[in-house]
Amino acid sequence: MTEQLQQIDRQVVQWLRQIKCDLPTMLADMDLQTKTSRFDLVTNVDKAIEQSFEQLLMSHFPAYQLYGEEAHHNTAKLRVGYTWVLDPIDGTANLVKQQDDYCIILALFHDGEPVLSYIYDCPREKLFQAIKGQGVYLNGEVVPPPPTMPLADSIISFNNKVLNDETMHDLLDASFGYRLIGACGLDSAKVFTGQFGMHIHTNAKPWDIGAQFLFAEMLGLKMTNFQQEPIDFIHGGPFIISNPGCYEETLAILLQNGGYQK
Ligand code: NAP
Ligand code: CA
Ligand code: CA
Repeated sequence: MTEQLQQIDRQVVQWLRQIKCDLPTMLADMDLQTKTSRFDLVTNVDKAIEQSFEQLLMSHFPAYQLYGEEAHHNTAKLRVGYTWVLDPIDGTANLVKQQDDYCIILALFHDGEPVLSYIYDCPREKLFQAIKGQGVYLNGEVVPPPPTMPLADSIISFNNKVLNDETMHDLLDASFGYRLIGACGLDSAKVFTGQFGMHIHTNAKPWDIGAQFLFAEMLGLKMTNFQQEPIDFIHGGPFIISNPGCYEETLAILLQNGGYQK
């Protein structure tokens, strides 16, 4: 299995290198559309990256399934055999408004278990890579599990539009500080490296969190819903990825004093 995964990994890394070369042209020709509201954005870059990955699969892995945000929503057989989960651009609002802080999130599942994962921070050219049975890397350097951090010493991250005010202030009071990048993959990657203690998304789509399963498993992080239960990779939903040192306290605060829903 490990040798096969290494082969697939090499193809993916090569594909990401090609995307890196093609991105400047894609960005120069960027065209913006809205989906369900003025905040729900998609660009031709999101669509082109998903199409490019689909072409890679057709050429090299024709039996592999694709579950992607823009055009691949068939969930019938995703737990059987090999399934890729792809968010072609995570942080589209950041791409459009700031030309910064966006990433590609990509994960391979075999019979429902995560085996390869990638978060590629495009502007910074930082590739987080997890290979089951082998290791976790940032641009080829080993990423160790982060040290255990209590909430009081942790920077925490969540969307402040979606938590009720009491809960939000209780979390701010109990933590060291608050930052939000605004791309679920990049906010999560800060937890991988110990820069953040935790990231919460109360309504994560499957492609927002596809890669995080394997990183969490291999780095000793907690990744669950708010009842400390596993998350189904096909459905997503309420999501916390957390350093083990601040997980219990964060969830206790999140669920007390009116809970997390506005
Ligand atoms: P944003 O900057 O557009 O996006 C922040 C992150 O949330 C990105 O990872 C983004 O992925 C994802 N996202 C964007 N729209 C989403 C949606 N409708 N549901 C779930 N995830 C979404 O975020 P924003 O401007 O603060 O908010 C845009 C909308 O997303 C709002 O309706 C907001 O309530 C909702 N949202 C909810 C949460 C939550 O924790 N419940 C978190 C973020 C955003 P893409 O770039 O791939 O779309
Ligand atoms: Ca996303
Ligand atoms: Ca997206």
